[in-house]
This record gives sequence, structure tokens and C-alpha cells, in this order.
Amino acid sequence: MSEEHHPRPDVSMHGLRRLLIIFLLVIGSAVVLVNGWVVYSIWQRIVNETQNDAHNLSQSLSRQSEDTILPVELTLQDLRDRITLVGLDPERQAYLRTLLMERKASLPQLHGLFVYDSQGNWVLTSEGMFDQRRNNADRAYFKYHQQHSDLDLHIDEVIRSRSTGDLIIPLSMRLNNRDGSFRGVLLATLRLDYFRQTFGYYNLGERGLLALMTHTGNILYVRPFANELVNRNISDSPLFKHLLKTSTSGTATYKAAVDGLERVFGYASLKRYPLVVAVGYDKQQLVQAWLTELVAYLTLCALLLAVIAALGWLLMRNIGHTIRDQEELAMARDRLAIMNRTLQTLALVDSLTGLANRRQFDLYLDRSLERANNLRAPLALLMIDVDSFKRFNDTYGHLAGDECLKYVGNALQSVDHHADDLIARYGGEEFAVILCDCEAETALRLAHAVREAVAALQIPHRNSENEARVVTISVGVHVIQRSQKEDRQTLISQADKALYQAKTGGRNRVEIV
Ligand code: GH3
Ligand code: MG
Ligand code: MG
Repeated sequence: MSEEHHPRPDVSMHGLRRLLIIFLLVIGSAVVLVNGWVVYSIWQRIVNETQNDAHNLSQSLSRQSEDTILPVELTLQDLRDRITLVGLDPERQAYLRTLLMERKASLPQLHGLFVYDSQGNWVLTSEGMFDQRRNNADRAYFKYHQQHSDLDLHIDEVIRSRSTGDLIIPLSMRLNNRDGSFRGVLLATLRLDYFRQTFGYYNLGERGLLALMTHTGNILYVRPFANELVNRNISDSPLFKHLLKTSTSGTATYKAAVDGLERVFGYASLKRYPLVVAVGYDKQQLVQAWLTELVAYLTLCALLLAVIAALGWLLMRNIGHTIRDQEELAMARDRLAIMNRTLQTLALVDSLTGLANRRQFDLYLDRSLERANNLRAPLALLMIDVDSFKRFNDTYGHLAGDECLKYVGNALQSVDHHADDLIARYGGEEFAVILCDCEAETALRLAHAVREAVAALQIPHRNSENEARVVTISVGVHVIQRSQKEDRQTLISQADKALYQAKTGGRNRVEIV
């Protein structure tokens, strides 16, 4: 029987397991990488959106601030023109005072309008009557105009109003005599509260910062901080040190000078005035918004990874089981193959003598008969029986009998045979030889040869009938001639008949029928 080859499980299955591990690692890393990238892009998106918001808001507030100051500037210009035209003589003052009051009433951002002479004495105010002895020569804006001849609008630092106690931003212009000499100062004061109201509409979160500053870094208004920060100079912040030097508006992330908190800033300078608006969103707040957005996403990703890991684990376990099953199956197959071979041998070979057994004899005889009939070839059968074997057993015992049968078997084999002859143990102490393509003459010669071979063994048999007192055999021969057609039954019975004749003829002989 040919050796069957079963695929070893460790080749295909272990490879599959390795592939699966690699596949799971690749998938896992891909999920982690993609998620890392998504998480980072969400952060980038939040920062970009916030930068845009801050930038847009700072630009819109700078325009709004400009819109607040421009009508005040135009009013001051107009008043200066009128004063230049009509002068400040006492008879003109009633007209000018009414004008001041009208203008103040039409501009809600205004706290008041004032006119001072070259000594800083109060000349006119939109607030009606006042103490004639009042003097503002000590104010910074007054000193500025005293020392500077330009006629532009001057915006000074925040001060507390001497008339109302309110915090105000002074917007002032120089008044000149016809010869260009200093005539006094025209002052409009802006209520800081006005900015508090307009800037207060915008919600920037708890720590969102919104500031209006001069170009020199002086804070005019900043929320959400108290008034102590008003007039503080923050010119050493990155906004004034670097950013405004390269661009009049933009975005940047840096630590706010007022409290050291990192914020995402948008800033924009006013076009007409030396002021700048900055809007800053608290970075910590962005991180929190980011984390809030991530919670659901990361939970889903963790679930996805867990599902992949669980599926992988299940698959690995399954593969493990399959490997074990396959190994067991292969082992069972091997055992079966061995058993099969043993069984096949057992089925065809006689265990005592090693000759063909009865089963093989029957199969071979059928095949040989068919072949002989088809080819019209002769076929001979030798039936052999050990003489007086019962007595041998009785004399020497059954084990010795078995030994004797082995020797007899060997003797039968030792005689020269054709490759296609079959020597079989027919049953008990009987043997049979099938001789294919064999004429009677050859068959007889072979029969004699085997009889002599057994006798030549000289196995002692003291109760034998023959004189030599050794183990002998009787042989019956029957040959199917070329022209005959016989079945197995006839062949065997004829050979048996010949054997019987040999027995009755005195044993240790050959007979042919
Ligand atoms: P004959 O010369 O007429 O053949 O006499 P015989 O004693 O051989 O007669 P018979 O064929 O009746 O007896 C066969 C005996 O062979 C019977 C049995 O005890 C013995 N025998 C058959 N098979 C075996 C076997 O496998 N081993 C042994 N030891 N003895 C066997
Ligand atoms: Mg017998
Ligand atoms: Mg016998």
C-alpha cells in the first residue's frame, strides 16, 4: 500500500495564525493612526475656527470703535471751525453753549464737550453752568496740545471726570489763534461705560478677553477685568512688540500680558485712529471644547478597537481549535493507516507460517482460474497434508506441532518456484500450491520436490507409519489442461481426491488425478 501523505496542520494553520496576528496589528495600528489624525484635525479645526472668530470680531469691533469716534471727531472739527469763525467772546458763548449741548445730546457715546482757554480755564461746557475758577491745565491732554502744534484729534489715557467722577476717554483738539499761537483746547469725553455696553454684547466665554488699546500699548478698556487695568501699559506684549509691526490685523496665540493666560487672539488696528482692538479666546476653554467633542468619538473608537480585538481573539481561538483538531485528525489517520496495513497483512498472510492464508489462496485461485480460462493456459493445484499429524501432536505436544508446521512451510517455500506460484496454508496441517501456466509433468516434479524437501527435514516422528520415523507429507495433484474449462470446486475436489489416494496409497507419496 502506498504511503498516504496528509498536510501537516502546522504549515497552513500556523501560517494563517501568523497572518491573522499581522492583520490584526495592521488594522489596530491603522485605527489608532487614523484616530490620532482625526483627533489632531479636530483640534486644528477648533483652533482655526476660533482664530477666524477672533479675527472677524476684532475687525468688526475696530470698525465699530471707529464709528463711535468719527462723529465725535467731526463734531470737534465743526466746533473748532465755528469758534475760529465767531470767537469765544462772552456774547457768543450762549450760542456756542447751546451748540455744545445739542451735539452732546445727539451722540450717546459722549460724556461731555468742553472748551478751555490757553491757561486751562474752563470757558464753555455742554453741562451748563460751572464754577468759573475751574482749571484743567494739569491734564495730560492739555499739556500735549500746549506742546504740540498739530491740529489732529488727540486721544489720551483714561481719566476720571472732575465733573461727574465717571471714567472717560478724552478726545481733544488744539485751538489756535489766527496767528497760529495756542488759544486753548477743545475736549470731548467718551464714556468708558459706552464701550462696556457695546463690547458687552459679545459672548467670549468666562475668560474670553476683549480690549481697546492705544498703539503705544495703553489699555483704554479691557474686559472681563476690573478698572484697575485701565491705563496699564502692556507694550511689552507680543502684540505690540512683534505682531503690529508686521501687520495691522491678524491672529496669534500667546500669553496675555494682563493675566498670563494663553489665549487665541485676533487683533485689528483702527484705520483712522492710533487704536487697536484685541479679542482673545481662552485656550483652556478650547481644550475643554475639544475634549467634549472627543468623548463620543473616542468612546466609539475604543468600542471599535474592542470589537476588533474580540473578533481577533475569537478567530485565534477558532484557529487554535482547528489546529488541534487537525493534529488529532492527522494522528488518527496515521494510526488508521498503520492499522489498515496490519489488517491487510493479517487478512492475507498466515501468522504461523508466514505463507499466504486461506483467504489469499481463494482470491488467487479465482484470479488464476479466470486467467487460465481466458488464455487457455494449464493450471495445476497441489494439495498437501502432513501425515499422521494428530499423532505428532499427541506425541510431542501442540507447540511442537506448530513448530513442525513452520518447518514444513519453509520447506515448501525452499523449492524452486515461479514468481506467480502461490504457496498457501490451506487450513490446519494442510497446504496448497497454485502453479500457473504449469503442465502436469512440471507439477508432478514440483510435487515430488516438496515431498522430498519435507522428508529431508528429518523431523523426528517416532509414531509415524514410515520406517524412517520422520515427518512426511502426502501430495495430491490435479492439472487443468489447456483445452479444459473447470471451476474451482472441481479443481479442489480433484486435487483432494488425488491427496486421498496418496493417503490411502500409504502416505509420503504423490498422486495425480
Ligand atoms: P493423516 O495422515 O491421515 O492426515 O493423519 P492425521 O493425523 O494428519 O489426520 P487428520 O488430518 O485427521 O488430523 C489433523 C490433525 O492436525 C488434527 C489436529 O490435531 C492437527 N492440527 C490441525 N491444525 C493444527 C495446528 O495448527 N497446529 C497443530 N499443532 N496441530 C494441528
Ligand atoms: Mg488433515
Ligand atoms: Mg494429516
